[in-house]
Amino acid sequence: MPDERPVLSLVVPVYNEEDNLQPLAAAVRKALEPAGISYELILTDDGSKDGSWEIMKAMAARDGRIRAQKFAYNCGETAASEAGMRAARGQYIVTIDADLQNDPNDLPKFLEALQHHDVVCGTRVAARGRGDNFIRVASSRIANWVRNSLSEENISDAGCTYRAFKRECVDKLKLYRGMHRFLPTLFKMEGFTVTEIPVTNNPRLAGQSKYGVWNRLFKSFHDLLAVRWMKKRVLNYKIAERVN
Ligand code: UDP
Ligand code: MG
Repeated sequence: MPDERPVLSLVVPVYNEEDNLQPLAAAVRKALEPAGISYELILTDDGSKDGSWEIMKAMAARDGRIRAQKFAYNCGETAASEAGMRAARGQYIVTIDADLQNDPNDLPKFLEALQHHDVVCGTRVAARGRGDNFIRVASSRIANWVRNSLSEENISDAGCTYRAFKRECVDKLKLYRGMHRFLPTLFKMEGFTVTEIPVTNNPRLAGQSKYGVWNRLFKSFHDLLAVRWMKKRVLNYKIAERVN
C-alpha cells in the first residue's frame, strides 16, 4: 500500500507526451527512492491525441504511486496543473513538466528549501542554453523582463514551471488560463514566502514543445495585464479591534 500522505505530490500536465511518461516515472523513482522520500506522481492527460492516456493507465495499474486522470478535451497547461494540484494528497506539491526538461535529481534540493520557505521556484541557470535553443531562451528572457517590469516583480525565471510549495498554498488560489506563468506572484499576494533555487534545464526528451514564440510572448501579455491589475488591487487590511 502506498503512503496515505506522501511527502511529495508531483503534478504533471501531459499533452501528447507518450514517449516521455515512462522515462519520467523511472527518473523520479531513481531520484527519490534511494533518498527515502515518499511520493505520488499525478499525471493529468490534457486531451492528448497520441497514446499518452493508454500508457498512463498501464503505469498506474503497475505502480500505486502513479495516479492518472484524463480531461475530455485539451484545456491548457494551467487547467491540467490545477486538476493535479486539487488531487494532490502530499505534504508538498511539485509542478514538473512531462518532457524531462526539469530534472528529477533536483527534487531533494526543493525539499530542503521548503524547510525554510512556503514556495520554491526553479531558476534555469547553469545549463540554460543546453535545454533550449537561442530563440526559446531569448523569447523567454524578454517575456521575463516584461513580466517583471509591468508587474513590479523580481522573479528570475517566471517561465520555469518547475516549482514546489506547501499543499495549503493552493487552497485559496483561484487560477485562470495561462496563470501557471504567474504562480509565484499569486502566492506572494496570499502572503506566502517565496525563494528561488537553480535547476538544471535539459533538452526535451521526445515530442515537441506546445508553445511557439507567438503564444509565449504575445498571448501571455493579456494575462500579465490581469496580474498587474490584481496585484495593484489586492485587498490588504488588518483588523485592529473588534467588539462582539
Ligand atoms: N501541456 C499541457 N497542455 C497544453 C500544453 C502543454 O498539459 O495545452 C504540458 C506539456 O505536456 C508539458 C508542459 O505542459 O508537460 C509544458 O509544455 P512544453 O514542454 O511544451 O512547454 P515548453 O517547455 O516548451 O515551454
Ligand atoms: Mg518543455
